[in-house]
Amino acid sequence: MIKADLHIHTLFSNDSSIHPKTLVEQLYAHPYIKAAAITDHNTVKGFHKVRDLAAAYSDITIIPGIEVTTVDGDLIILGVAEVPPEPWTVGNVIDFARDAGALVIVPHPYREYGLGDAARNYRFDAVEVLNGGSANQANAMAENLARELGIPGVAGSDAHKLEELWSVYTEIQASASLDDILEAIRKGLVRVARFGKSIYF
Ligand SMILES: [Zn+2]
Repeated sequence: MIKADLHIHTLFSNDSSIHPKTLVEQLYAHPYIKAAAITDHNTVKGFHKVRDLAAAYSDITIIPGIEVTTVDGDLIILGVAEVPPEPWTVGNVIDFARDAGALVIVPHPYREYGLGDAARNYRFDAVEVLNGGSANQANAMAENLARELGIPGVAGSDAHKLEELWSVYTEIQASASLDDILEAIRKGLVRVARFGKSIYF
């Protein structure tokens, strides 16, 4: 089993101050979280930087990702280190991810820039049911959405500052390999946790 923070912004997102080097050092030093998805806004430059820095460390896994600002709300793609072609509509992002063998996750559906109930009109791989920056009520609504859609729920800190990292995480029944991690999320072999406390759905 591996514990992963699936939603992190580096300073390659214009609203984050997290330096890739510090992120890698913190992940390496963390007592139990050993995987991190880099999900900068509309760019994969941060992922490439983090991946290059992480190559010098053992026992940590960096998951390629991106948070795309679609016209209807944010979407996270995990498993591909490419920016999808514009226009960024929900349908186009899903098609791009499917072709790349990547996952599409609905982050913070009931917060600003969230997809909201429009998420019901599409087929996603998972819903972010625990977002480190969302209020409990918004997370609870996201959890209900995942249940209704019958898809897995995952967690990510959505950190934009160092102190926000690792606030919540996803426990994934997988090895440290990227393919294993993506497949396990797809199959729902996940549960979400906050501050070391498992939350069962
Ligand atoms: Zn985000």
